[in-house]
Amino acid sequence: MSDILLPFMFESGDVRGAVVALDRTWREVLARRDYPLPVRTLLGQAMAASALLSSTLKFDGTMVLQAQAEDSAAPVRMLVVECNADLSMRATAKINEEAQPQQSDALHELVGAGRLVITLDPKDGASAYQGVVPLEGAQLAGALENYMLRSEQVETRLWLAADETRACGLMLQKMPGAGGNAKATDPQTASEAADERWHTAQTLAATVTSQELLTLPPPEVLRRLFQEFDLRLFNERHAVFRCTCSRERVAGMLRMLGQEEVESILTERGLVSVDCEFCHKAYTFDPIDAAQLFMPAAGQGSSGSKH
Ligand SMILES: [Zn+2]
Repeated sequence: MSDILLPFMFESGDVRGAVVALDRTWREVLARRDYPLPVRTLLGQAMAASALLSSTLKFDGTMVLQAQAEDSAAPVRMLVVECNADLSMRATAKINEEAQPQQSDALHELVGAGRLVITLDPKDGASAYQGVVPLEGAQLAGALENYMLRSEQVETRLWLAADETRACGLMLQKMPGAGGNAKATDPQTASEAADERWHTAQTLAATVTSQELLTLPPPEVLRRLFQEFDLRLFNERHAVFRCTCSRERVAGMLRMLGQEEVESILTERGLVSVDCEFCHKAYTFDPIDAAQLFMPAAGQGSSGSKH
């Protein structure tokens, strides 16, 4: 009964959405790093939002949500959440250690002006798609609603909440070209009825409290809010924390950095140590490991090679 994403649709076919409650997935993020309270809340909201937005994508790959501050002195320089098609997720916030502690979890105070970037990176190696809009809105939910409208032309509403144990959210989307399944009526009446339902759905959803999102099971959230509508619930999906870092990836990064740079770090510190920014696992390379990074791959050039 945890880490659930529950997609749904109105039987009328013109409004869809999802509810998410991340428990363990979220706590795994928090177990790896201590965030100041307001940053923790914002990151939890971003994680819930990523799961919700990715649930509408028909694509096998990774969705990366980034909020980037323009001002390098902003309390939060960058928020990153990665969500894979199987709902495995990881997240991190780059904090400005010198910034004054913040009281508010508002986006405009923690990040300020900047960019909201969503990247879809397909698994099959096809080129990535990236949407970018200016960061606008006092809260993350508003900034993402703006992104969805401007970049994807989808009317979207989000309600997000996070505390030290859960990251939760509710999303509503108006289906494009919503005339719905109302076959008996003429298109204009159907479209007006769809607009009306969309309006009512938003009004009802807006009554949800953070407390309800954080404490109620997702089906119960929907039951309470949308009693007057026929809802079709889809299969529950389960999120999980997973970091995709590996020693091979770090080795690849060090090779990109170049032998000269790696050797200068070794001279200075005796070791090269790289921390994963998501899970904070440390990857350490001693001089022998480092030398191997820049040796020709096995089978090439050695006396026993097949060439
Ligand atoms: Zn990692």
